[in-house]
Amino acid sequence: MSLIVQKFGGTSVGSLERIARVATRIRSARDRGHDVVVVVSAMSGETDRLLDLARRAQERPDLRELDVLLSTGEQVTIALLAMTLQESGCAARSYTGHQVRIGTDSAHTRARIVHIDDQRIRADLAQGRVVVVAGFQGEDEKGDITTLGRGGSDTTAVALAAALGAHECQIHTDVDGVYTTDPRVVAEARRLEVLTFEEMLELASLGAKVLQIRSVEFASKYGVPLRVLSTFEDGPGTLIGPDREDNPMEQPLISGVAFNRDEAKITVLGVQDRPGVAFSILGPVADENIEVDMIVQNSGADGTTDFTFTVHRNDYARTLQIVRERTSQWRASEVTGDDRIVKISLVGVGMRSHAGIASRMFRALAAESINIQMISTSEIKISVVVDEKYLELGVRALHTAFGLEENGALEGGVSR
Ligand code: ADP
Ligand code: ASP
Ligand code: MG
Repeated sequence: MSLIVQKFGGTSVGSLERIARVATRIRSARDRGHDVVVVVSAMSGETDRLLDLARRAQERPDLRELDVLLSTGEQVTIALLAMTLQESGCAARSYTGHQVRIGTDSAHTRARIVHIDDQRIRADLAQGRVVVVAGFQGEDEKGDITTLGRGGSDTTAVALAAALGAHECQIHTDVDGVYTTDPRVVAEARRLEVLTFEEMLELASLGAKVLQIRSVEFASKYGVPLRVLSTFEDGPGTLIGPDREDNPMEQPLISGVAFNRDEAKITVLGVQDRPGVAFSILGPVADENIEVDMIVQNSGADGTTDFTFTVHRNDYARTLQIVRERTSQWRASEVTGDDRIVKISLVGVGMRSHAGIASRMFRALAAESINIQMISTSEIKISVVVDEKYLELGVRALHTAFGLEENGALEGGVSR
């Protein structure tokens, strides 16, 4: 009998009716002869509701207590799903992260899984039970509850699949696979049949929230085949694995367009152009554990230069404050900021060996009169920062320019 791990996201368990549909899916996997371990998220909106309560109780919520609070969402759904399964005649048992012993480090609200004790799960499977595990949570060495960051149930599922040597990890959600871009923004987006870990990692890290980045890192590290599927409809979904099964020569140039609405930028104008300036601007930001994404420094003139970088929007106010406090130190003339920007990225391992992608991208944006504020490139992606009002227009323009839509084909071809 092969073992599969099935994860169901918040929308999929958003009501008792939906939980009943999830139970039907699980039973049909059992009927097909699989052992099943299930991971569930909190009911849709629940984690946001708890976060909001925490912020009302304490201005900067204590992270240990926040984890105690946030982990309750998943505890509700595991019990309700186990009850629903039992009610339909399917033996099932639920476990919190603490009960399984999903061991993590102590980085509250963004903990990493370091160990999974699979004993109880294996014993239940041997007894013919479906095992339902709470996503997004674990416990650290001291026995304190931790959570894995937003979207962390994906990572719980993949980590369990790796620990149990599962045949496949299925991520059931409210779309029927990974698309060339968010299908809620571009209706013509196309479902991808297969995707490499590398491509999915890039899409996820550039904003495609269909999978938590860490879950893809985990799957890639342990070689767990990952499939994204709809909870509500049957279909093959998208298979993410080490290699494409099709002919590598047919590898598409571009796999998709990702975007991130969570960006904000800060510019230090007229800083002295001398060694150590970048370090002295970004050092204090890093010391506050604020992650910096893109960095651009203009070529200097008159011994001064401008320095721009982006951070998560949640860190914008704090970063601006840190930088402004030090303006005189660099003799900068001014510090400006903008938290109404977004990052749009074109992703594809195929672009590695292909010239002209950037110019095609910039032409498509120019044709829509979209001003590019920052650019960054790597071997397999090109990202631009633009005003947030151009998000939808920009994503659509690129999607069309690279022929990514359903049945889309471009002169010059999108395959190499
Ligand atoms: P869940 O609650 O099941 O974890 P999420 O909301 O985390 O679901 O992820 C699914 C959502 O990801 C979809 O509803 C879709 O809007 C969004 N999404 C963003 N980019 C993509 C993409 N490239 N392909 C599919 N879905 C995407
Ligand atoms: N409930 C958590 C969240 O909303 C974890 C998850 O859904 O994956 O982020
Ligand atoms: Mg999710």
